[in-house]
Amino acid sequence: MSSVKDITGLMSLPSPEEIAVITRAYSFAEKAHRDHKRFSGEPYFTHVVETAKTLARFGMRGNTIAAGLLHDTIEDVGVEAEDIKKEFGSDILFLVEGVTKLGKIRYRGLDRHNESLRKLFVATAKDIRVIMIRLADRLHNVRTLEYVPEHKRERIAKETLDIYAPVAYRLGIQRMHRKLEDESFRYAYPKEYREIKEIFDRESDERKKILTKFHRSIIKELTKHNVEVLKTDYRLKGLYSLYLKYLRKDKDIHKIYDILAIRVIVPTVADCYNVLGVIHGKWRPMPKRIKDFISFPKPNGYKSLHTTVFTGEGAVAEIQIKTEEMHNEAEFGIASHISYKEGGHSGGESWISALTPPNWVREEHSDTPTPIRTDRVPYWLKDILENDSTTSDTSEFVESIKGDLFEHRIFVFTPNGDVIDLPLDASPVDFAYAVHSDIGDRTFGAKVNDKMVSLDKPLQNGDVVEIKTRSSSKPSEKWLRYAKTSLAQRRIRNALAKNKKGSHMYQDEN
Ligand code: MN
Repeated sequence: MSSVKDITGLMSLPSPEEIAVITRAYSFAEKAHRDHKRFSGEPYFTHVVETAKTLARFGMRGNTIAAGLLHDTIEDVGVEAEDIKKEFGSDILFLVEGVTKLGKIRYRGLDRHNESLRKLFVATAKDIRVIMIRLADRLHNVRTLEYVPEHKRERIAKETLDIYAPVAYRLGIQRMHRKLEDESFRYAYPKEYREIKEIFDRESDERKKILTKFHRSIIKELTKHNVEVLKTDYRLKGLYSLYLKYLRKDKDIHKIYDILAIRVIVPTVADCYNVLGVIHGKWRPMPKRIKDFISFPKPNGYKSLHTTVFTGEGAVAEIQIKTEEMHNEAEFGIASHISYKEGGHSGGESWISALTPPNWVREEHSDTPTPIRTDRVPYWLKDILENDSTTSDTSEFVESIKGDLFEHRIFVFTPNGDVIDLPLDASPVDFAYAVHSDIGDRTFGAKVNDKMVSLDKPLQNGDVVEIKTRSSSKPSEKWLRYAKTSLAQRRIRNALAKNKKGSHMYQDEN
């Protein structure tokens, strides 16, 4: 069993306060989970300690790690929220409740709902630190899946691949993304896993031999040109992403060049291009395989130069060139910005600190708003913003992200458990049109959580909504006032216009 030191030893420069709060959380959780075991027969406490260790590895600070230790105490062993607050304060309680209140995301394996579920996952978290705890929690859960009953195992594994891993990916936390995928792949698709694993083992052995030799030639060439290199290593492709690529390449493994890649880390951006130049000067690059993700980062913020060259012995090799900062950002993504948040390590220059509640308060009482670097905001968060014009002003920008991401959306369910994503204050009318325009047009009543409600009732997160339809029902003028979504308003106007036209014709005939 790991001790407190095994956790804090993974942190960089923990303060005495951080060590103290982690130590208290450790004892509290140990006591709370005393009689509690995992499917594996291990003490349950192991699970929360492993979660805390993952958080420490990802650069989280004291409160988040303490919350990681406490994350299952309310839900699983009935500790009162009040007690957590008394012992650890409101920030830690907020984090623990954030993890607890994920509720049941009703994963049913349907592609068309997965995007909404990912948004639900992010929206209910309310704070990036909560997302990190949920991901760390899930990582240990998938690592111990072999002990979980079979029917449950597959569902958890697929849910991890479809919801958790993509969230990690979009937050740019490659290291977490890769681990979540590789741990769950074998349980989600055992046959496919074995198929690709066999190919991978065979291919990677062979490619490693080629690359080791080629690697030495590269170093030699770079030294000859006086290029300063901080580090070089190999990057092995994750099995699940390899499998997806394998399918895209018609199951021809020889069309995949990056099972193994050489990674070159250099001090500056200029050095990156310099290395690319030196390499292309010596080895012929493969056409269409030169990718400049520094000038054109991937949507999740990933930056690097990639090229594939002919090594001269009938083989090809992919080379990835980046700075140390790019490397860390790629591995830790959003997590690499969170450490600003706690422990007063920095003034919170990062945009991410603006997304966490204590800073909202500070901003309100401060005359000088924290400068936000919008260039660091992952594109997919920008995509969530409907109105691009707000992005010119940074404080407005943060407002709108905070809003759209965490406040201005609600997620409600059909009686089947399908999730529908709506703006705040949306009504059953919006819901009906979001499900299907025919259902919208025929609506005559709505049940929310099994109770009949009026059609203008604002819906709440997590409501289960059932629409009653009748073939003779028609949209009425006042529905326009109930509808918050432009989709519903447009459909209602269309239907009203059609009905009007219909009645005119009827009158003309008379
Ligand atoms: Mn847990």
